[in-house]
Amino acid sequence: MDFTISPEIEDYRQRISRFVEDEILPVEMNRDSWDAHGNIAHDWLEPLREKARAEGLWCLQLRPETGGRGLGKVGMAVCYEEMNRSIFGPVVFNSAAPDDGNMMVLEKAATDAQKERWLQPIVQGKVRSAFAMTEPHPGGGSDPGMMLTTAKKDGDKYIIKGRKWFITGAEDAKHFILMARTSDDPRRV
Ligand SMILES: Cc1cc2nc3c(=O)[nH]c(=O)nc-3n(C[C@H](O)[C@H](O)[C@H](O)COP(=O)(O)OP(=O)(O)OC[C@H]3O[C@@H](n4cnc5c(N)ncnc54)[C@H](O)[C@@H]3O)c2cc1C
Repeated sequence: MDFTISPEIEDYRQRISRFVEDEILPVEMNRDSWDAHGNIAHDWLEPLREKARAEGLWCLQLRPETGGRGLGKVGMAVCYEEMNRSIFGPVVFNSAAPDDGNMMVLEKAATDAQKERWLQPIVQGKVRSAFAMTEPHPGGGSDPGMMLTTAKKDGDKYIIKGRKWFITGAEDAKHFILMARTSDDPRRV
């Protein structure tokens, strides 16, 4: 793997660093901007997201055709480190879990129609999403082979049976990616 930091990545790094310093850290210092869970409150988040977007510092991790800048893994490591100087940073740049991982899964695995319906609203910052994997004991956590939730095909739908917990952002999420078992083969979760 080539760990060279290109001039483009260095430029993003510097711009993100300045944005975090000038725009986000002053907001984080103000207790009024915190919600009950210790995240940035919605009314404070939206103007910062708009500003980050206007400055071209938005969804950098995604491919250009999806609406990102194709940062790659080295660029993500460099830029995410700068974003995380503030606990509010990643969400401002639309690079925070669970949306971040969900967007990458959808970008890689979804059909064009699924991307239009599920991915683009997250990319555009219109909705938040969640990821439902972890289950209460004896279900799956670190080891997905232990997953108990099943998805059984029924015509053109799936019937899901199971219980999930620890779903970050579940209350605000417009849609979820759910991990479930589709066969008894331990390798086919
Ligand atoms: C802040 C936070 C946010 C989270 N958000 C989400 C979310 O959005 N969606 C979601 O689905 N989950 C979420 N989780 C849950 C998280 O993904 C799980 O806690 C994690 O996967 C570990 O699972 P577990 O807690 O069941 O622990 P376990 O899987 O029970 O693991 C406990 C210990 O046992 C070890 N272990 C487990 N299985 C094996 C094995 N087969 N062999 C040997 N050792 C093993 C592990 O390494 C670990 O040390 C979140 C957790 C936190 C703390």
